[in-house]
Amino acid sequence: MKKHNFYAGPSILSQYTIKNTADAVINFADMGLSILEISHRSKQFQAVMDEATALVKELLEIPEGYSVLFLGGGASLQFCMVPFNLLQNKAAYLNTGVWATKAEKEAKLFGEVIEVASSKDKNFNYIPKNYTVPTDVDYFHYTTNNTIYGTEIRKDPEVGNVRLVADMSSDIFSRPVDVSKYDLIYAGAQKNLAPAGVTIVIVRDDALGHVTREIPTMLDYRTHVKKGSMFNTPPVLPIFSALQTLKYYKSLGGIRAIEKTDLAKAEKLYEAIDSSKMFVATVPGHEDRSIMNVCFVMKPEYAELEKDFIDFATAQGMMGIKGHRDVGGFRASLYNALPMESVDALIACMKEFQAKH
Ligand SMILES: *Cc1c(COP(=O)(O)O)cnc(C)c1O
Repeated sequence: MKKHNFYAGPSILSQYTIKNTADAVINFADMGLSILEISHRSKQFQAVMDEATALVKELLEIPEGYSVLFLGGGASLQFCMVPFNLLQNKAAYLNTGVWATKAEKEAKLFGEVIEVASSKDKNFNYIPKNYTVPTDVDYFHYTTNNTIYGTEIRKDPEVGNVRLVADMSSDIFSRPVDVSKYDLIYAGAQKNLAPAGVTIVIVRDDALGHVTREIPTMLDYRTHVKKGSMFNTPPVLPIFSALQTLKYYKSLGGIRAIEKTDLAKAEKLYEAIDSSKMFVATVPGHEDRSIMNVCFVMKPEYAELEKDFIDFATAQGMMGIKGHRDVGGFRASLYNALPMESVDALIACMKEFQAKH
């Protein structure tokens, strides 16, 4: 049976990425060796790193003066690396969920943290509006897409002269971003790019070197900028896979073309949920809804059918639609590599289940 992959992360990758990665595990760059067993300093791997870096810059239209890094440690390590490198006195954070909360917690180890707004009062089912970011902070940090709750900020916030830092782990490459507004963007790769193990960091070079504290070598962005992400052994295989996905994105027509498809997929699924008698989206405000992670639950009168629907859908090949335990219900993640066909299959499955009950 055809499987439809709605996992939230690690999550669906393009067949192009999977196939080329599998091939490179057997024979990388015609070396007659696996990519798993060659030096990261070989010219063949250096070419992978160079091309991946160049493609990130091209696809996101990154201006001069920025470095693209491929680091280990996951997005979670960035929660502490960001304040280690950028927080001298005070930073402002917007709290829109579990990941934002975790980022904020780490920052408190390095200085004063001002939480400008939080949507915790409603289990993070909306994006706070009308908050003000103080002008005297070292930076403002926010999470563009809240993977667990299905909310998303798709418009770069206006924060005047304050340095902007964003966790884009679960929606990078799903829309054009004006990188020039940001001092630092980071994203764990396992949601829209590659297998787990690598994190992309895009950093404005002149944002670094302003804090007075000592920074351990591996946690200092300047180390990795200087060494082109090759200070130590980088996550070789995930970087190779990332390159395949980036090539695939380029072949689709780049980020604008991808955004169009992503919007169409999400619109279709939300439409099906909003017009159903059985299901309801957990995020009421349409403008706050994520196009990457669509969260929905049973209406109260059907609540006891929740497990039945998961079983029914799973039996039809819908994989990974169980909602996060903090939200319950269902979550369909519609990352870039998920085809419209899978959205159609899920909608058909929902309709069939509703007709039965
Ligand atoms: C998944 C996720 C993380 C955590 O990523 P790790 O690579 O597991 O550390 C952080 N932020 C967001 C928005 C995420 O979706």
